[in-house]
Amino acid sequence: TFILAIETSCDETAAAVVKNGREVLSNVISSQIELHKLYGGVVPEIASRKHIEKINQVIEEALDIANMTFQDMDAIGVTYGPGLVGALLVGVAEAKAISFATGKPLIGVHHIEGHVSANYIENKDLKPPFLCLIVSGGHTHLVLVKEYGNYEIIGKTRDDAAGEAFDKVARAIGLGYPGGPKIDKLSKEGNKKAITFPRASIVGAPYDFSFSGLKSAVLNHINTMEMKKEEVNRADIAAAFQDAVIDVLVTKTILAAKDYGMEKVAIAGGVAANSSLREAMEKECSNNGIRFYHPSPIYCTDNAAMIGAAAYYEYLRGARAGLDLNAVPNLKIGER
Ligand code: ATP
Ligand code: MG
Ligand code: FE
Repeated sequence: TFILAIETSCDETAAAVVKNGREVLSNVISSQIELHKLYGGVVPEIASRKHIEKINQVIEEALDIANMTFQDMDAIGVTYGPGLVGALLVGVAEAKAISFATGKPLIGVHHIEGHVSANYIENKDLKPPFLCLIVSGGHTHLVLVKEYGNYEIIGKTRDDAAGEAFDKVARAIGLGYPGGPKIDKLSKEGNKKAITFPRASIVGAPYDFSFSGLKSAVLNHINTMEMKKEEVNRADIAAAFQDAVIDVLVTKTILAAKDYGMEKVAIAGGVAANSSLREAMEKECSNNGIRFYHPSPIYCTDNAAMIGAAAYYEYLRGARAGLDLNAVPNLKIGER
């Protein structure tokens, strides 16, 4: 089964050809980061316009690399939410046009379920049930993946997403957008014990997260140092902030895995590319007899291969979208 997958939910125009949900024949990503960098974040109007400019070229390239045509595809998978409405609409309209013109079935994919499904690509043995920690630019969720396409959210952030916290702290210490990879790199030069930032826990909700207090603590630290006319050590801040985030993510994930008797843990989303998070998770999972799975960095951040992986299991379930498929900017996980 061959699926042509399309992803335009944010600032990556992406298309991929995926075989049987696990084998990536092509994975083309046209990133708009250089453009949005100038504004310190994603500008929705610019994102939509760029997607329109690039989408045909990106799809053509994905088919060329796979050495296939539209006629070789069994279905067209597309992200229809969550994300920026104008950005999503470009991919959805494109996928509908291809489906209409070729008669190939259309499958609407949830972007976050795509992030989770990125784990299937390189881990051929990974099958549900497993616990997945989703840490992306807009989401921080702990979900039980009970079977393909069947998710139960057991914890989530009360305020900022993990990736959002990385981006905001990076901006505060002058690293620019997107901040995650820059903090990842700079933290290696810093001392994570130099500053102690708070680890938030929520009474009665052991699997929920909160990162806004941590972000404020970083800002307060910077202000205090500046008022005292002391040097602000950016590498130490990056290391200590990242350590606080990772500590909370790992502790809660291991707790949930034990409480729910999960023998497999996976991570997904842009922050899952973080090298220290991967090391810490690997270590704690191993200490607790849990198997740990993660995608390569290229499949952690936005891409269409992960959408093809998710679309395949939707295809097997018999899910088909009509030509009335619409973008749903605030689509919830598990919602159809
Ligand atoms: P969502 O998937 O929730 O809709 P998104 O698609 O914008 O949001 P992703 O592409 O999954 O988010 O991830 C982008 C986020 O990942 C950004 O916040 C970025 O800073 C963060 N990120 C990327 N690489 C790293 C890294 N190495 N360490 C930490 N964070 C990272
Ligand atoms: Mg992006
Ligand atoms: Fe994403």
